Amino acid sequence: MADKPIQELVSCMGQPVAGNPTQFMMERAFADCELDWRYLTLEVPAENLKDAMAGFRAMGLRGGNFTIPHKVEVIQYLDGLSEAAERMGAVNCVNVVDGKLIGENTDGKGFVQSLKTLVEPSGQKVVIIGAGGAARAISVELGLNGVTDITIVNRTESRGQELVNVLNNIDGVTATLDVLDGDYEVDDDVTVVINATCIGLGDAEARVPLDLETLSRDMVVADVVFNPPMTRLLRDAQQRECRVLDGLGMLVNQAVIGFKIWTDVDPRPEVMREALEEYLEI
Ligand code: NDP
Repeated sequence: MADKPIQELVSCMGQPVAGNPTQFMMERAFADCELDWRYLTLEVPAENLKDAMAGFRAMGLRGGNFTIPHKVEVIQYLDGLSEAAERMGAVNCVNVVDGKLIGENTDGKGFVQSLKTLVEPSGQKVVIIGAGGAARAISVELGLNGVTDITIVNRTESRGQELVNVLNNIDGVTATLDVLDGDYEVDDDVTVVINATCIGLGDAEARVPLDLETLSRDMVVADVVFNPPMTRLLRDAQQRECRVLDGLGMLVNQAVIGFKIWTDVDPRPEVMREALEEYLEI
């Protein structure tokens, strides 16, 4: 391969988080699928995004991921958005279609795919703790996948209310806000509880403010935090006999979806998960 020009490039623009596990995972999947593609990590300061996007077009990149701080700002440099990305107001994945840059958001789709391994989203009664980017992506995608009852629990009321307003604009969805104040008590008819805050990131003992007594064995408990994957919340939920979903599944699934969008090839999720675990040493 060394003397052959690389056929296609995709890139990740933003602040690399803990190096770039996604680059490692994508490159492993390109090799596994025998695709002569490369995935580059490009650290672009906010003030250079406009120029970087001109470069993106000029260099003929086939696609890209976008992370903090570009997920919202990049939209002005794109030619179109998927429905989910438009509702979320954030893009984490760009695809080039007939020379046009189309913004997608695969985070929520990755979560929904994980959830589907345990339950069908439609008809679930969902509580989401957090109202940031991850909560926004997950809740909008759940709304677009038939979940009609969503409660957002957030510390900062204004941020929570903003997300609730977005969700109530989706046909059939009724969203409400509970402002986080002490340990949150989950209603007994709730079926899915999701931690979409960063509590637990890099700290296996960090505690999500939840009254564990209100978790029951009929519930699915999910965490977006992927490192460490077995967060305190998931360990506690398992003790309460809940079924649990870790954040690694969501991360792998969103990468699988991005890979397919760019290449039109289905990668093997297990190869990507293995690469991720190797990179994160877990
Ligand atoms: P944001 O900064 O956009 O949002 C953070 C959210 O967490 C806010 O709602 C914030 O509340 C809440 N929060 C933070 N600290 C506390 C606290 N001590 N008590 C109560 N609430 C708190 O972050 P993101 O949404 O982008 O990311 C959240 C997590 O999701 C990160 O750990 C990230 O790694 C993970 N993630 C995982 C993905 C995956 O594929 N597994 C994909 C994307 C993200 P407030 O509004 O009050 O500040």
